[in-house]
Amino acid sequence: MPKTVCPFCAGPLYEHDVSRQVDGQRYHIDCVIRLLKDKNHEQTKALRAINDIRNSIIALATMNWSAHIYPLVAALNEAGYESDDYEEAKAKAQTLIDQRDRAFKMVEIAETALEKITDKNIYVKPGTHISTSMRIFAEEAIDEMKKHEVTGRKEA
Ligand SMILES: [Zn+2]
Repeated sequence: MPKTVCPFCAGPLYEHDVSRQVDGQRYHIDCVIRLLKDKNHEQTKALRAINDIRNSIIALATMNWSAHIYPLVAALNEAGYESDDYEEAKAKAQTLIDQRDRAFKMVEIAETALEKITDKNIYVKPGTHISTSMRIFAEEAIDEMKKHEVTGRKEA
């Protein structure tokens, strides 16, 4: 009596058959190999298509929807990579924009704080010791952020 059916070949899968679990389903061991080969073939095909799109973008030094974006989406869909729907994608992009804006704000705050500290400790309570090493550290951190264009305060 077959216990289950192999999702790859639709053949019976007996208790004594050598099998493996893939994504929560049991397959004949030979079918797992064939499944992985198929997957690899699909992914290689997608990578070749994406590579062609990349080369076209470089060659044209531009990008457009019909020649690049739609074929990219199609290549990824064919390989089984589903895209986010519009609202999901928009929410994720918004998160990145928010993170960038927060980073800019933090740098602004840090720069202002550093100016206050270096400007004769005006905003530091009497008796509070600001070590030279701390000041150097803060200056280095800001330089580092500027180097990586984390600052990017909008110039009016
Ligand atoms: Zn099978």
